[in-house]
Amino acid sequence: SLWRYLQEKFQESLSKVSYDTWIDSAVPVRLTDTNIIIEVPSSLHKDYWQNNLMSRIVEGIYEFSGKELTPIFMIKNEEMPDIAKPTIKRTNNNRLFKDAQLNSKYTFDTFVIGKGNQMAHAAALVVAEEPGTIYNPLFFYGGVGLGKTHLMHAIGHQMLQLRPTARVKYVSSETFANDFINSIQNRTQEQFRNEYRSVDLLMVDDIQFFADKEGTQEEFFHTFNALYDERKQIVLTSDRLPNEIPKLQERLVSRFAWGLSVDITPPDLETRIAILRKKANSERLEIPDDTLSYIAGQIDSNIRELEGALVRVQAYSAIQGTDITTSLAADALKSIMPSEKPKALSIYAIQQAVGKYYHVTVEELKGKKRTKGIVVPRQIAMYLSRVMTDNSLPKIGSEFGGKDHTTVIHAHDKIALSVKKDPVLQREIETIQNSLKK
Ligand code: ADP
Ligand code: MG
Repeated sequence: SLWRYLQEKFQESLSKVSYDTWIDSAVPVRLTDTNIIIEVPSSLHKDYWQNNLMSRIVEGIYEFSGKELTPIFMIKNEEMPDIAKPTIKRTNNNRLFKDAQLNSKYTFDTFVIGKGNQMAHAAALVVAEEPGTIYNPLFFYGGVGLGKTHLMHAIGHQMLQLRPTARVKYVSSETFANDFINSIQNRTQEQFRNEYRSVDLLMVDDIQFFADKEGTQEEFFHTFNALYDERKQIVLTSDRLPNEIPKLQERLVSRFAWGLSVDITPPDLETRIAILRKKANSERLEIPDDTLSYIAGQIDSNIRELEGALVRVQAYSAIQGTDITTSLAADALKSIMPSEKPKALSIYAIQQAVGKYYHVTVEELKGKKRTKGIVVPRQIAMYLSRVMTDNSLPKIGSEFGGKDHTTVIHAHDKIALSVKKDPVLQREIETIQNSLKK
């Protein structure tokens, strides 16, 4: 049940004493479309929940049910609040959660470490555990969809896990700019400053958008100084290094350099496969390894696109009511593949080209005859099918008259080795490959 889920969540993150004091004494009494009503023993408990546990309970409810419910705390033996009043949704109850604005999926647990993000990940962990002391500010830079935002949220979650009362604020640079401009228009600058300067961790995402915003930069400069002087942690991201952001004030550039800047680079194939596998597992999708490799091989720049590809493949299999296979994935991804990419080479085309070159028929290549004049061309055709197409080993085997995939592996390895030692064979194969590329 929802409550059980929340209890377990709190059990993991709170000490036993805290858990017994605050969580064990609370009783869920009612669930509506918009609210969960929770009974607590005293006003002290109510305050504690509202001030310290709010973000996590809202998050937990969302994780469990996908709903955004606002908790209402009721002190035992007091009258039930009139939850029908729409004003309740707008109370400060949501405050902490709203300030933190953390996506519950972006945690360290769901982050796959690879060569391109190893440093960034390590720095993020340090900052979450030792905020304000070691790397301040921490600055991540790198292309889109490589995990900058994910890491920021992970820092926020981790810090709240370790210090539940910490004030964590995550904003995009646009939100910061808009909040600032609104505060001028509404004459609420005081409030704006309180809000931004009273946090323990401030994270501003994509600060390249500060580029031509003079006033916002000015205000951010003061925000930065106030937090820095108080040894509060600041984490920033951008698509490039601070000194490469056009029109970013020199004094900001130099302050950003006080801490640590780490870049995140695109994931290698292994990391992409690991990310897909993790994602597939968490969605309980059954995907064969060669299909995961296939998808990871097709999409090589950006993790967001990689995830998009997986969603697409998943949707395809759901619509067609079939299991996920490499050929299904190929179909699903066809339309999103770069259009300049040449049409996929077929195994049949390779068989024809090899057959033509060595004067054997396609039938003989697919057959079982083991004379030397046929065996080597057959192995070459299998080798080329392996290196020039995305077909799986079993698929290649089946296109060669139903041979086992180990036969394909053997053929591939044998030719790969011979090519290195035999320049004549190497040239023959190059000629065939060139004829296929036309
Ligand atoms: P950025 O902010 O750099 O543009 P995001 O943090 O928004 O990129 O990442 C894009 C998507 O890729 C998100 O859904 C994120 O969860 C996922 N992602 C990025 N890096 C990783 C990683 N190392 N492991 C797992 N998922 C990742
Ligand atoms: Mg981002």
